[in-house]
Amino acid sequence: MLNIKNYINGKLVAPEAGNYLDNYNPAVGEIYGQIPNSSKEDVQKAYQAAAKAFPSWSNTTLEERSKILYKISDLILEKLDFLAVAESKDNGKPIALAKQVDIPRAASNFQFFANAITQFSSEAHESVGLNAVNFTLRQPIGVVGCISPWNLPLYLFTWKIAPAIAAGNCVVAKPSEVTPMTAYLLGKICNEAGLPKGVLNIVHGLGSTTGQAIVEHPNIKAISFTGGTKTGAHIARVAAPMFKKISLELGGKNPNIIFADCDYEKMLETTVHSSFANQGQICLCGSRILVEDNIYEKFKEDFIKKVAQLRVGNPSEKDTNIGALVSKQHLEKVKSYIDIAEKEGGKILFGGETVTVTDRENGYYLQPTIIEVKDNECKLNQEEIFGPVVTIMSFKTDEEALTLANEVKYGLSATIWTNNLNRTMQFAKQLQTGIVWVNTWMLRDLRTPFGGTKESGVGREGGFEALRFFTEPKNICIKYE
Ligand code: NAD
Repeated sequence: MLNIKNYINGKLVAPEAGNYLDNYNPAVGEIYGQIPNSSKEDVQKAYQAAAKAFPSWSNTTLEERSKILYKISDLILEKLDFLAVAESKDNGKPIALAKQVDIPRAASNFQFFANAITQFSSEAHESVGLNAVNFTLRQPIGVVGCISPWNLPLYLFTWKIAPAIAAGNCVVAKPSEVTPMTAYLLGKICNEAGLPKGVLNIVHGLGSTTGQAIVEHPNIKAISFTGGTKTGAHIARVAAPMFKKISLELGGKNPNIIFADCDYEKMLETTVHSSFANQGQICLCGSRILVEDNIYEKFKEDFIKKVAQLRVGNPSEKDTNIGALVSKQHLEKVKSYIDIAEKEGGKILFGGETVTVTDRENGYYLQPTIIEVKDNECKLNQEEIFGPVVTIMSFKTDEEALTLANEVKYGLSATIWTNNLNRTMQFAKQLQTGIVWVNTWMLRDLRTPFGGTKESGVGREGGFEALRFFTEPKNICIKYE
């Protein structure tokens, strides 16, 4: 059994009340460890450590902060293989994917903000004719809360923590209770890198207990949250009367719009990836494929052929494309949408069944699933499934494609495949999403603003946007004679 602890004031400590939760390995469907279910008291201890560390950390030079962040990044890369195995065991994703994407990206997050903080500047305004000059001080907020989901555990956890501490804040952070392992290991790495005690504190536990205690804490002044839309709405309700700063990165139902004039082979290959990478459990996955009607039948045939070649299996094996879903509960949820599809008149073109993997008979495996739907109003096209399930339907005109793309409550990202420049610009301007990819998918530049519109969230992460979120702007006006 691998039992993990909270990381408070630079130490690994057991939860005060001694409550624990089981931690599952989804690839085999078995418990392999326990994690603290931290209480209000544990969160209070974490807060106190952070508050104590804040005066010194916020006055630490940018060079020193930057040096420590670079060191954390180097150590993550040094331990890449070990961390990738831990991430895969906790989450069910293929080790190869964790090695290629999750862990290197966690290192990049620290590296990026180690550099970004040394380049961050603020504005000055000379009030001409009034003998006055204004400038903006960007000060760290104090103690901030960071709460992350299970799909890209270390990747998204560090995406919040790195800018928060780079900007001089101290943090109380909670990873998902479903995938706590790499966050636990990060605590050890921070000590090794010389991060002063109390700058980062990690508490484990359920959202309804530990997460809620962070959001309710009167002196944790900002909450950066990534997770489901329902949870985001709840957090907004709790935080609003306390006037906390909040950044919410929530669910998506992203359209992947394919025109006949695109580079077909590149589109096909990327579409397989954007549909099923990480078992379809990426908020950016293109879960609604919309195809121009003159290539619809050809696309369907070619897409099914390609998807049939994907290997569902043991996440530890090199040639596995699709690993296990994160939990039994999540597998049941995803499967329930396949049942709904049948009731709604959707046609399963491929997949739809659970998969039994040798020596891993109790693991949570599902075939990549393609469902043809007839209209956009069906649940399958309106609700986030967050698994290896995509819908496809055809459209005739640009106007129709745009309407289909926008007629959902979510607005995270969209992909469009075309070589027509005018069409590209019309869609880029009119798609109601925070991110639009043209002839690519999930190509990330960490300087860009990241986030969604509508029920996909409020606020932006990434680049200077994250440093702006984690600082309070103060206007200083100096009158001179
Ligand atoms: P979730 O909302 O269930 O949980 C996310 C985190 O919030 C977990 O750490 C959880 O413990 C915590 N939490 C739950 N209830 C809480 C409460 N009352 N107070 C405080 N914290 C609470 O989401 P999930 O199932 O872990 O993740 C999947 C969701 O995340 C999907 O909807 C997906 O689209 C979304 N997501 C969004 C992005 C993005 O950048 N927009 C990225 C990844 C995932």
